[in-house]
Amino acid sequence: MAASTRSILDQSIASLRGIGEKRASALTSVGIRTVDDLLSYFPRRYIDRSSIRPIVSLQADEETTVVGRVVSMGVKQGRRNRFVLVVTDDTDYLSCIWFGKVLFWQKIFRVGEWLALSGKVTLFGGPQMVHPEFDRLGPAGEGDFIHTGKIIPLYPSSEALTKLGFDSRGFRRCLVQVLKEIKGRLPEILPEAMLKRHKLFSRSEAVRHIHFPADFSSLEKAKQRLKFDELFFMELLVGLRKQHLGSRSAGIAFERVGEPLRRLVQALPFELTGAQKRVLHEIRADMKKSTPMNRLLQGDVGSGKTIVAVFTMLIAVENGYQAALMAPTEILAEQHYLTIHRMLEALGVHVVLLIGGQTRKVRQAVLAEISEGDAHIIVGTHALIQESVEYRRLGLVIVDEQHRFGVLQRAQLREKGLNPDLLVMTATPIPRTLSLTVYGDLDVSILDELPANRKPIRTFWRPQTGRAKIYEFVRRQMELGAQAYVVFPLVEETEKSDLKSAVDSYEKMKRGFFSAFEIGLLHGRMKTAEKEQVMDDFKSGRYRLLVSTTVIEVGVDVANATLMVVEHAERFGLTQLHQLRGRVGRGEKQSYCILIAYGNLGAEAKRRLETLTETTDGFKIAEVDLELRGPGEFFGTRQHGLPELKLANVTEDTTLLLAARDEAFKIAQQDPQLRRAENAPLRDHFIKHYREKFASIWIG
Ligand code: ADP
Ligand code: MG
Repeated sequence: MAASTRSILDQSIASLRGIGEKRASALTSVGIRTVDDLLSYFPRRYIDRSSIRPIVSLQADEETTVVGRVVSMGVKQGRRNRFVLVVTDDTDYLSCIWFGKVLFWQKIFRVGEWLALSGKVTLFGGPQMVHPEFDRLGPAGEGDFIHTGKIIPLYPSSEALTKLGFDSRGFRRCLVQVLKEIKGRLPEILPEAMLKRHKLFSRSEAVRHIHFPADFSSLEKAKQRLKFDELFFMELLVGLRKQHLGSRSAGIAFERVGEPLRRLVQALPFELTGAQKRVLHEIRADMKKSTPMNRLLQGDVGSGKTIVAVFTMLIAVENGYQAALMAPTEILAEQHYLTIHRMLEALGVHVVLLIGGQTRKVRQAVLAEISEGDAHIIVGTHALIQESVEYRRLGLVIVDEQHRFGVLQRAQLREKGLNPDLLVMTATPIPRTLSLTVYGDLDVSILDELPANRKPIRTFWRPQTGRAKIYEFVRRQMELGAQAYVVFPLVEETEKSDLKSAVDSYEKMKRGFFSAFEIGLLHGRMKTAEKEQVMDDFKSGRYRLLVSTTVIEVGVDVANATLMVVEHAERFGLTQLHQLRGRVGRGEKQSYCILIAYGNLGAEAKRRLETLTETTDGFKIAEVDLELRGPGEFFGTRQHGLPELKLANVTEDTTLLLAARDEAFKIAQQDPQLRRAENAPLRDHFIKHYREKFASIWIG
């Protein structure tokens, strides 16, 4: 049975009765290619039509089902022509009304036939239903109820699909047919014992009841099982990835930590926070081991991740290896380069910068230093992973602002080394159960303490009508010596109109309101050298105000800058605003963040702005963000190489997630190649549905 059912499942949807090429190709637009895909096309919601009521007892506004015999039908002329069908169940009469397409409806029904009708009741003289759902029943009112009389699934559809008959009715009809053909039996993919342990439906039961639930409790059980499947395979992916990392040939044991580190600590103008010390301890323990480190460093904006990275790199260098630090933007790479260069050059550590915008000559020289091993620390953008870059002895890889990179880029940089240690850093805090999943293959360190000298940033949001006052405030602060950022949104580098708004406003400010000051302009379209110059001039204090696009969003660190003005703040996401705000409040002076919003704000935009004015805690902000955007968007699941979840929700289904994770990790550990007989069906399913994601693991 299993084999033949399997082959039906793999059949193209076009092979089904009544589908054909045209409709099949329309169905691919919603990801349905095979019969199996159709079965995995889950309803978006359900309506309860399970109780059949005598017509005489109908009440206004209730959703219900009636079974009756057609006694008359016809077209009524009026402002809008309508088709009226009258049925009776011998308790009373019910009128069913369809507006439009009257000729069509006239051909559908016969006087004398039995129908089940579901819809909302109105009392208009007598009981009525407008555009009810219906099933045609046998002579005595018995028969298959598909569209009425039970809990009815509603499917997501599109205009194009509806035109081809794939509204909810179309999907239901098709699914009934398929379930009949496979006799409701689907091959099981999880081991029997696992299902027992978690009291889960069989896959057959689950698929049947998700489409045509007998009652709400079976619907719930069906959902549980199918969610479990999604979570289990996601965790299996993570588990295998972790297994794979762990089983690679031995990494480097960095034994030495000596004089250079001590000298660096002494030279610091500040004391490390407790959290920084703890994290360095964790990292140190990892590096000593001969298995490669795979660690995530999570710390809110301003928590001092860079210095942790510097210490870590210094250890690698002291042990005779190269270290690479990859940042998401040229500006940030540049800044890291300058900071690290300043700190370490006195210790005889040679730091180089590699970014896309360098001249050919500079680039050649840098590449030579990297391949010959003269460069100890290499700071750069994704230019670091280009093919032309050959490292001499790459022993440590650090990825800053990891959420900006994909799993693949991380893996590619690691491939350049000698099974190097890996540290990824992110400012996006996430709840622990989730970080276990999203970063399931990494150990996690947390910087949960800001340096003691910080004053909380004061944040306001104002409608754009209040701009004159805001700029007046900014100007007064600048007269007292402050430096300010004014940020404009630039959704995409190519979006000219946005770019224009930053450039135009810069011109206006320079000539008007801020004519007494030197002000700078920074955006992504400028040449690398120009950007460098502008950043330098802002850092040195020559520019007192910097008009910028979001190129300064991550990482930029200018301690004297205490004012952040964000124009069109309603267009930014929460995390993004939090990052932008993180550009100020980096020293001891009081900092301000002022968000300027345009137009009538929706509830969500308001919530984002309010949240920012209420808290500076990145963790709380991330939670609200997660709630507003949903986990898929929030994590960028694709970016992390994780599958999309259709039913399960990692923030709500945590119990199920933990159970699935447990099972998946056990299997990944005991049977990392999935070779055992009892895991064969699971392996097939995994390869069939997760192959692409799977491949990217083995590249990593
Ligand atoms: P982020 O975690 O956002 O990358 P940075 O590493 O850029 O933060 O650090 C922010 C600022 O705080 C930098 O100017 C850095 O020199 C400073 N800093 C880091 N650690 C400490 C500390 N322990 N005490 C005081 N200032 C610190
Ligand atoms: Mg940083």
